[in-house]
Amino acid sequence: MNPQNTSGARCNRTSVGIIVTATDNGDVRVAMGDRVKPPACTAAFAGHVEPSDGLGSGDLHHPAHEAAFRRAAARELLEESGIAVDPAELRLVVGAVYAGNPAWGSGGCAPEHLWRVYEINFREAPALRAVARENRNLRWMTPDEIGDAGQAVEPVWRDHLAYAHILPAPEKWATYQGEPLLDRGSPA
Ligand SMILES: [Zn+2]
Repeated sequence: MNPQNTSGARCNRTSVGIIVTATDNGDVRVAMGDRVKPPACTAAFAGHVEPSDGLGSGDLHHPAHEAAFRRAAARELLEESGIAVDPAELRLVVGAVYAGNPAWGSGGCAPEHLWRVYEINFREAPALRAVARENRNLRWMTPDEIGDAGQAVEPVWRDHLAYAHILPAPEKWATYQGEPLLDRGSPA
């Protein structure tokens, strides 16, 4: 699920994203799917941090919330891809405020979300199995294939994948508000 509030849960302006990579072919491939609900587009896995993830109150930017964001990321990944991971194995690769997409005004979500995106790499690509009804056509895509898909890929995911050094960096981030919050670092 993306920040668009399709679960009925109250929007709390948080989003976790998960980039799953596999390197068994020698090339990096990324697990992607097509979202069923509008806006229909190709995206990786994402959703809100929910109360059951243990999100406390106060400034969401505070590091004390990291554990809840990680639990949410592992939960969403399992729901949307069938891949089970230990939250501690996830590597934080993006911290950014998403400025919102006017096209999503009807989704019940605030325009602005704090995103934390995690990456996990597998040497052997795990099977992809959609459990929730939110995405379909799960597949492994090379960075070139994602780049060639262009506008079919959700803008925030074009930003996230560039920020994680999987796509080339854009001249200007399409969706981040201000500068991303996390040091972009260097390619892993
Ligand atoms: Zn929301």
